[in-house]
Amino acid sequence: MASAFSHAFVALVLGKASRHPIMTWQVLFLGMACSIVPDLDVIGFSFGIRYGDLWGHRGLTHSIFFACLLSALLVRVWYWRTSSSAKATLFIYFFSCTASHGVLDAMTNGGLGVAFFSPFDTSRYFFTYRPVAVSPIGIGDFFTGEAFRILASEATWIWLPTLVLFLLLRGFQQMWLWRPSQTSHRPREPGESAKD
Ligand SMILES: [Zn+2]
Repeated sequence: MASAFSHAFVALVLGKASRHPIMTWQVLFLGMACSIVPDLDVIGFSFGIRYGDLWGHRGLTHSIFFACLLSALLVRVWYWRTSSSAKATLFIYFFSCTASHGVLDAMTNGGLGVAFFSPFDTSRYFFTYRPVAVSPIGIGDFFTGEAFRILASEATWIWLPTLVLFLLLRGFQQMWLWRPSQTSHRPREPGESAKD
């Protein structure tokens, strides 16, 4: 796993990148929770579930299918009264936060790969280039271990690229999506219809 800090950081920045009015702090906190939830699968170790099993660590909860399911559920339960555009934005956001977890894990240099296509294909996958130092599963082990080395690796390979993505997404919206209409506030020409 990458550390929970980095997973949550990516979710927060992704949320802040969107300028849709639905992106409140409540939504951002849910997004950060989505980015960490996949690692709850470590509970399975206490029940004898092995790392490589369907429900093992980096298994089903790290899949694209799980990200779809969790996002749809959140939108259905908490945001069913919102507009279609808000629902679509929220689904994409929650999905991106949850799916980003597996993507980051697949960039780490330890453990088993990520079951991106579970439950349909339970093979484990890593990216070919894995520059992120793997983080210990327990938070205690994280701080007693090589916390600085891990955070430095994540700052380089996760935080910085995420901030670049933030700037790109903001720039894209500034240019294409949220540009105020050039015609809406111009003075009306003499004889021009008031109903256009
Ligand atoms: Zn994980």
